[in-house]
Amino acid sequence: QENILQPEAAIDEEGKQEESIRPQRFADYIGQKDLKDVLDIAIKAAKSRGEVMDHLLLYGPPGLGKTTMAMILASEMGVNYKITSAPALERPRDIVGLLVNLKPGDVLFVDEIHRLSRMTEEILYPAMEDYRLDITVGKGSSARIRSIPLSKFTLVGATTRVGALSSPLRDRFGLIQKLRFYEVDELSKIVLRTAELLQTPVNLEGAIEIAKRSRGTPRIANRLLKRVRDYAEVKSLTEINQPIAAEALQLFQVDPSGLDWTDRKMLSVIIENFNGGPVGLETLAAATGEDTQTIEEVYEPYLMQIGYLSRTPRGRVATKIAYQHMGFKPPNEQLS
Ligand code: ADP
Repeated sequence: QENILQPEAAIDEEGKQEESIRPQRFADYIGQKDLKDVLDIAIKAAKSRGEVMDHLLLYGPPGLGKTTMAMILASEMGVNYKITSAPALERPRDIVGLLVNLKPGDVLFVDEIHRLSRMTEEILYPAMEDYRLDITVGKGSSARIRSIPLSKFTLVGATTRVGALSSPLRDRFGLIQKLRFYEVDELSKIVLRTAELLQTPVNLEGAIEIAKRSRGTPRIANRLLKRVRDYAEVKSLTEINQPIAAEALQLFQVDPSGLDWTDRKMLSVIIENFNGGPVGLETLAAATGEDTQTIEEVYEPYLMQIGYLSRTPRGRVATKIAYQHMGFKPPNEQLS
């Protein structure tokens, strides 16, 4: 069964539908105030000087709006954008092809930028720094470097693992910004906006219920809304309210805090088998059948965000509120 709480983008029908609800303008991009404040100034400054915007690195968990922000940036600057991702840039000629075709001011969005190959990365250094492509022609002792000028452009890199970027690459971004998980009130605004676009009646309490179960992630909020809409349609219910949203999401096994089977399994292993922890990452991966990277990049950030899990040098620990949420009596005050 597909996991509706996975924040990864879908590459099917749903992926296409995502485009129709993606905000197009700054004003429609809800939340992330710090990010918007920084970019607002950067855009205005670049525009007033008639220059291209500095390269921008966006990092944070999937589904929080990195791609969306890159597209909005291009539209606010009045330029075109190209979207690619590191796995599609394996051969040097892939990145060269993109770079030479950029028009002045264009935004080049590179997703999963921590996964670039070494050669591609080295082509990017002079391109980012001096808008220049250095190509080696010839072999051995007769090899020399030819430089080709490029249009000035803005590279927007996105990553879930900022620590995995090489420092020469990271240093070439003028702006490095973190995206945060969204608050419930921000997510409910997103749900209400999407509901309007989908012409699905939802009241405020219904939107809040969906928001609470969305793991702080707009992509998940939109997906849960669609599942609740299906449920309401099948049951011939006209408006989505709180009980309907709760009922539908219960059916899809999304718990009131937005936890799914894997989250709950992680917490129950820590609590029941290891007396609250600490438990190593490998153990949690084995118990849930997930790989360690997914646990670290997708599951743990949200569990830590809502205060259910803490990471200690010796392993992961379940907090008192995690005990309560899972229906266990917390062990006496030794826990935080
Ligand atoms: P990322 O690139 O970080 O994985 P996306 O930019 O693709 O995430 O966002 C996923 C979806 O969530 C988008 O299609 C958009 O509809 C929605 N979304 C993301 N951020 C916002 C926001 N700030 N306001 C409204 N909708 C958003």
